[in-house]
Amino acid sequence: MARIGVGAAMDERRVDLHAHTTASDGTLSPTALVELAARKGLAALAITDHDSLAGLDEARTAGARLGVEIIIGLELSISHAASDVHLLAYFVDPAEPQLAARLARFREVRASRGDAIVEKLRALGVDISAEDVRRHAGKGAVGRPHVARALVEKRIVATVQEAFEKWLGDDRPAFIPKEKLDAREAIALVHGARGLAVLAHPGLLPEETRYKILRDLAALGLDGVEVEHSRHSSEERRRLKQIAAELDLLTTGGSDFHGENKPDVDLGYGVGGNVRVTVQTLDVLRARASLRR
Ligand code: AMP
Ligand code: FE
Ligand code: FE
Ligand code: ZN
Repeated sequence: MARIGVGAAMDERRVDLHAHTTASDGTLSPTALVELAARKGLAALAITDHDSLAGLDEARTAGARLGVEIIIGLELSISHAASDVHLLAYFVDPAEPQLAARLARFREVRASRGDAIVEKLRALGVDISAEDVRRHAGKGAVGRPHVARALVEKRIVATVQEAFEKWLGDDRPAFIPKEKLDAREAIALVHGARGLAVLAHPGLLPEETRYKILRDLAALGLDGVEVEHSRHSSEERRRLKQIAAELDLLTTGGSDFHGENKPDVDLGYGVGGNVRVTVQTLDVLRARASLRR
């Protein structure tokens, strides 16, 4: 641990604030993910599955055993300025009734969307069943990656990527759109559950609108922005830091690890070591979240 300034302890241990498990579209179970985090020497790990907190309890059990602090997280999809915008939520209270109800609804909607995608595929002559898909989703939120893995398992396609290219991609024949929250509703939901709302990977948004979206969300009460991310260039990070300072937003980061679904991304390290987030960042978030309690 390095010390700077007037005795302020800077905890430089590494953390990862963005990672997915099999409860959404990651390929590692919560236990396997936390085991990997421990092997990588991470002090803390936020589990940020899409629309689901189902991986949390298992991750905490593993975290307690292995000495990795588990942070509650969630990644919500919102629709804003005609874009698919991802919002990370940290430190939410899983028992807060409105959030719990929303997540239960997401689970139902995703399950029936999964069934509908299967129906479309069957109508297109693809031999796959709802059961094949459910097995890959476990108790988490059913998504297209689970359908893709079922298609690979049945040897209908060779890779997950091919499943998206042939059938599941946004403009492909078995695509079914997802119901999305609007930005105001999503931020209010996170704040209502006493959590922090952070714009995920703005660098993946269309270049023409990404900073406008950031400013719009900041006006709606956004708490922070993900600056460190596997797919952000150093130029992008510099720009985001500058805007975050202007808008008084916290800055966060994470690898956005998905296991074999994004094989070039390494937990805690990003792509070729391009992500480094420390306990310091987490401590700032935690302090801000504690003001909500
Ligand atoms: P869903 O939430 O069910 O619409 O699935 C979205 C997820 O599918 C994303 O988080 C990605 O992990 C994955 N995905 C979307 N497009 C592709 C693609 N072209 N190739 C591989 N994975 C994709
Ligand atoms: Fe994902
Ligand atoms: Fe995302
Ligand atoms: Zn993510």
